[in-house]
Amino acid sequence: MTGNEQVSKIYDVVVNRNAGEPLFHQAVAEVFESLTVVLKRHPHYANFGLIERLCEPERQIIFRVPWTDDAGNVRVNRGFRVQYNSVLGPYKGGLRFHPSVNLGMVKFLGFEQIFKNALTGLPIGGGKGGSDFDPKGRSESEIMRFCQSFMTELQRHIGEYTDVPAGDIGVGGREIGYLFGQYKRLTNSYESGVLTGKGLTWGGSQVRKEATGYGVTYFVANMLEAKGTEISGKKVVISGSGNVAIYAIEKVHQLGGTAIACSDSSGYIVDEDGIDLELLKDIKEVQRGRICEYVETRKSARFIENGSIWDVPCDVALPCATQNELTEQDAKTLIKNGVIAVAEGANMPTTPEALKLFREAGVAFAPGKAANAGGVATSALEMQQNASRDSWHFDYTDERLAAIMRDIHGRCSETSEEFGKPGDYVLGANIAGFVKVADAMFSMGVI
Ligand code: NDP
Repeated sequence: MTGNEQVSKIYDVVVNRNAGEPLFHQAVAEVFESLTVVLKRHPHYANFGLIERLCEPERQIIFRVPWTDDAGNVRVNRGFRVQYNSVLGPYKGGLRFHPSVNLGMVKFLGFEQIFKNALTGLPIGGGKGGSDFDPKGRSESEIMRFCQSFMTELQRHIGEYTDVPAGDIGVGGREIGYLFGQYKRLTNSYESGVLTGKGLTWGGSQVRKEATGYGVTYFVANMLEAKGTEISGKKVVISGSGNVAIYAIEKVHQLGGTAIACSDSSGYIVDEDGIDLELLKDIKEVQRGRICEYVETRKSARFIENGSIWDVPCDVALPCATQNELTEQDAKTLIKNGVIAVAEGANMPTTPEALKLFREAGVAFAPGKAANAGGVATSALEMQQNASRDSWHFDYTDERLAAIMRDIHGRCSETSEEFGKPGDYVLGANIAGFVKVADAMFSMGVI
């Protein structure tokens, strides 16, 4: 860590106290890099242990999740919920079900979530959770039993005014349904506002499913507009083929761009004519199949098993799969191929080395905490609708989302200018999010 000496010391304490959690260290380092300039101008933010308190979650819950598989074997997974910071509202953030989930990963995601949620301008704090459960290859009834067991413990810790989880990797509408059903059963109350991402007939919001992918694309449209250009006519490469990726592709096509490649953990496909979204949705959302199946129907497309999706030349790159998926080598290739904008649909998908190269090359770069905030923002809109027993139309909700993304873009852009680095969205997002949370923490005293 470089820059401010006090911040460097706090960073060392964070690393020592949270040993063996490199993703968490990386997320903290990225925010701390931006704090140096803020503290130079506003040194009071280093008072009252504010930065130390910001790094320490308010509460961390780890629990056993026992369940029985279809063969009658008892399985044991580990569940997590990190309730990070609630100065702006109830903890809010998704649940991730993936074998790689551990406490450090949940803390990295929860830490990012604090600033992301602050940037939306909506009254939500930051939290995150999940389990090392692997849904791949599990039957419907195994997934249901796992979700029910997970919620049997989680229900003690969440609530409409306390903590409101949503989906993330491995947790979509199906899982939210099983989780909500078990919550309702255990508490004997129809508390719609306890989870977001619900089905449209039982308390869900229009556009929530689409929100993260649509939001990323709106953010890119704003960035390109600031550069005097637009998405229309651009070639876009999008990693992943899950919730975020699918709806980013949909919005890119609606805005006149062409999404030409996407992936899953087994490889990537390239379809120069533009990805056939109906086919992709059928494979991924209906059949829950693998990306290679796309080329069985679409003969003009190619499937590449080994290699990097970032080798595909494009104007815009949207990493929408997972953390640290876009490396220094990938950044070199993208820059060589003339990329003009990169926006993170996933959380922290770009390594620090790759980010440095994008900055040096003048590529417009949107960090996840700004670019993918549309998902959580629409979750907050779902909470608003639940609280008022109302449900809004698709177009109205989509307009609200577009306006929120425009505001976030504006906030990041203005803050980067204010601190002498115009166009540095990483700096702008970190500072704008930090200042909002820090001011609220000051107002509430040492808690
Ligand atoms: P999904 O589970 O719907 O999809 C994830 C996609 O990424 C799948 O195609 C998956 O492939 C791929 N993927 C996951 N892990 C890996 C890996 N280790 N290596 C390669 N590919 C991988 O998740 P989402 O689309 O919801 O989430 C994607 C990203 O967006 C995550 O970083 C998440 O935190 C972030 N995000 C999501 C939000 C949301 O509203 N859902 C909101 C804000 C951020 P495979 O199926 O083969 O594993």
